[in-house]
Amino acid sequence: MRKYYCILICCACAQFTLAQKTIIYCGQLIDVKLLQVQKEMSIIITGNTILEVKKGYAKAEGNYKIIDLKNKTIMPGLMDMHVHVEEETSPSNYIDKFTKNKADYAFKSVGLEEKDLMAGFTTLRDLGGSGVNISLRNAINKGFIKGPRIYTAGKAIATTGGHADPTNNYNEDIMGDPRPAEEVVNGVADCAKAVRMRYKQGADLIKITATGGVLSMAKDGSGAQFTEEEIRAIVTTAKDYGFKVAAHAHGAEGMKRAVLAGVNSIEHGTYMTEEIMELMKQRGTYLVPTIIAGRSSADSAKIPGYYPEIVRAKALVVGNYIQTTFSKAYKSGVKIAFGTDAGVYSHGKNWIEFVYMTEGGMPILECIKSATVNAADLLGVSDILGSIEKGKLADIIAVDGDPVKDVQVMGKVKFVMKDGVVYKNE
Ligand SMILES: [Zn+2]
Repeated sequence: MRKYYCILICCACAQFTLAQKTIIYCGQLIDVKLLQVQKEMSIIITGNTILEVKKGYAKAEGNYKIIDLKNKTIMPGLMDMHVHVEEETSPSNYIDKFTKNKADYAFKSVGLEEKDLMAGFTTLRDLGGSGVNISLRNAINKGFIKGPRIYTAGKAIATTGGHADPTNNYNEDIMGDPRPAEEVVNGVADCAKAVRMRYKQGADLIKITATGGVLSMAKDGSGAQFTEEEIRAIVTTAKDYGFKVAAHAHGAEGMKRAVLAGVNSIEHGTYMTEEIMELMKQRGTYLVPTIIAGRSSADSAKIPGYYPEIVRAKALVVGNYIQTTFSKAYKSGVKIAFGTDAGVYSHGKNWIEFVYMTEGGMPILECIKSATVNAADLLGVSDILGSIEKGKLADIIAVDGDPVKDVQVMGKVKFVMKDGVVYKNE
């Protein structure tokens, strides 16, 4: 007779790790909601959560760790609403698609997002890649690699031949006919399917390319590429899965269709008309300007051979237009969420957008609000991110100097805390 032994190993080693208690002394603290700079403040943190924000330098009782930033300006972790974590601008990008594997992109992306984190960007909204972006987010969340919080669209959604069609300009043998599981849709059924595929693939939000774009190997940089009905199908299906929708748009017609169909943000917004600004204000649609992307791609276009000719011509035109549009949209009262298109220029230089936004007439404290309060609102995470307040996650950064006096100090980030963990303290 055989006997079965059931060996039950009871692992009673429940882990009770006492949450780290920290007090940050802030020489100056930016209140991003009131648009005020407060002097001599303390932020009290337990684990990854802000417990209290107090006037004066709080006394450390018990096992509190003190971080002394009395000679710095402290603000919430910055949030860039338009990046591509897999990409970094290079003249070889167009040929790399034929020579590199997904794993190559994965290894390359490790370090790119870290540059953004070290520049003070504790949260990124990734607006399209190959799917490596989803794995990168997961690896960061599991603690395998260092990086910011990532909310990713996975693969962007385009129509055939549209801005994000991954096989644009390939020869006939390899062009194929990509479908919703990849990036390409045609008609409302495909649109619903593509959104559901993104859900299945693990995306956090949806990105569509509502018009042509600058860096794709296609002639048209601004024409409409979706019908309004198609965008509506995307927005409606996205709501079922709790997804927000970001729409890349340069030209007015495609942009207007996207706003009317109910997308949450317009990316770039280059040829935005006054009529569209009014529609966006009525609907609460955000503009994510990406001025730096326009300006840096116009600069790169002047370097011989940097872009293929078909791209070069478009980059020269769109270049500085975005900053002018941003300025008009801001002054007319369109809601602005900070976003740069990092990857189109080098990661880690995201802060230069603050310089361009102030040049466009937006005061620096409002710019910082657009990269914190507004960004959190656009992501739908205002309950946990976007300000330094009781109960929110401890994403906190500090710069050397006073950004109100000199916008350039936004490039001098000396302290970075994400989720209560210090990543930089110089
Ligand atoms: Zn982009």
